[in-house]
Amino acid sequence: EKSILVRDLADKMKINTTELISKLITLGVMANQNQELDFDTALLIADEFGFNVKLKETNVIDNNLESLDYEDKEEDLIPRPPVVTVMGHVDHGKTSTLDAIRNTRVTKSEAGGITQHIGASTININGQKVVFLDTPGHEAFTAMRARGANITDITVLVVAADDGIMPQTVEAINHSKNAGVEIIVAINKMDKEGANPDRIKQELTEYGLVPEDWGGDTITVPISAKKNEGIDELLEMILMVAEMQEYKANPNRKAVGTIIEAKLDKGKGPVATVLVQKGTLKFGDAVVSGCVSGKIRAMFDDKGKSVKKAKPSIPVQILGLSDVPESGDKIYVVDDEKIARNIAQKEQDKAKEEKVKKQENLSLDALFDSI
Ligand code: GDP
Ligand code: MG
Repeated sequence: EKSILVRDLADKMKINTTELISKLITLGVMANQNQELDFDTALLIADEFGFNVKLKETNVIDNNLESLDYEDKEEDLIPRPPVVTVMGHVDHGKTSTLDAIRNTRVTKSEAGGITQHIGASTININGQKVVFLDTPGHEAFTAMRARGANITDITVLVVAADDGIMPQTVEAINHSKNAGVEIIVAINKMDKEGANPDRIKQELTEYGLVPEDWGGDTITVPISAKKNEGIDELLEMILMVAEMQEYKANPNRKAVGTIIEAKLDKGKGPVATVLVQKGTLKFGDAVVSGCVSGKIRAMFDDKGKSVKKAKPSIPVQILGLSDVPESGDKIYVVDDEKIARNIAQKEQDKAKEEKVKKQENLSLDALFDSI
């Protein structure tokens, strides 16, 4: 919480301390020159002397969004779990593959718990965590990318062995390449009559993905999501890639993450799933995401268990936001709720301004059309 001494405030405004003290008295604040004024009071006084805007600006500027998302020093980084997205053409078996992965890795202690749908899940493979994002609806995912949200490290590209590379497969390849994401190809439906993995490999080469056993560096794993075959091998490959890439983050800073899902729950109010990317998100943290601010008043992991902290790569569902944030938007932890509200308000004003501009452009277009 920011504060200032009475004499310092007088100094800043280049007025006499006694003048300031008498003004404080008229406002019902009894103070001497060495007394601390909280930010609100200081703001009120400054306003009386015509300084309102400047003071407020300084406070917000050193907490602006860009400055919150600073890069960490190399020595502060420590390993974090890889974040994996399963992608591929419709009906090639994305959902089945994710289910197979989840089911093979449910430990006895977790078996009783019902996996919550929060848009992501954490899986334990031989003591190592891997985070899987549920392939979001096509549109939601495109919107996320449009906003530059780059949250995945590894794409598991599912291709049905009895089909081939289809439009959405190509799209997934392009998106992954553009984002610099590693691709592991899961050749699925190997149990099917017409399965032809060699044809898939041939087609992959046409998109610059040359399989390892053909002399390239693209990992391909034959699987059957339906029969639960090849899933362990697929997980091993994910761990291997993660080990090679050494994904890292700094857990010791204010958290920055990305909203991967958000909705309005009748009972709980706005709920959002956050993938933490930097720092550690904590219960009680003041946060801001776009035009939405709040304070985390509950946090749950993908098993529905209440948690107090979430480190980098970990997905958590949070409660306590003022409104439903947009998926793909970043979320930042700030010093306190007031700052969060200030920033959200600024974002809201910006959004309004842009909307007005758009409308002006629209009416201008309409004007030209009518000429
Ligand atoms: P998605 O649209 O990519 O999520 O595909 P789904 O996981 O929903 O699967 C589409 C269909 O393919 C479903 O009928 C699945 O049962 C079936 N399927 C998925 N994996 C396999 C597999 O390994 N073998 C066979 N035979 N069928 C599969
Ligand atoms: Mg599906």
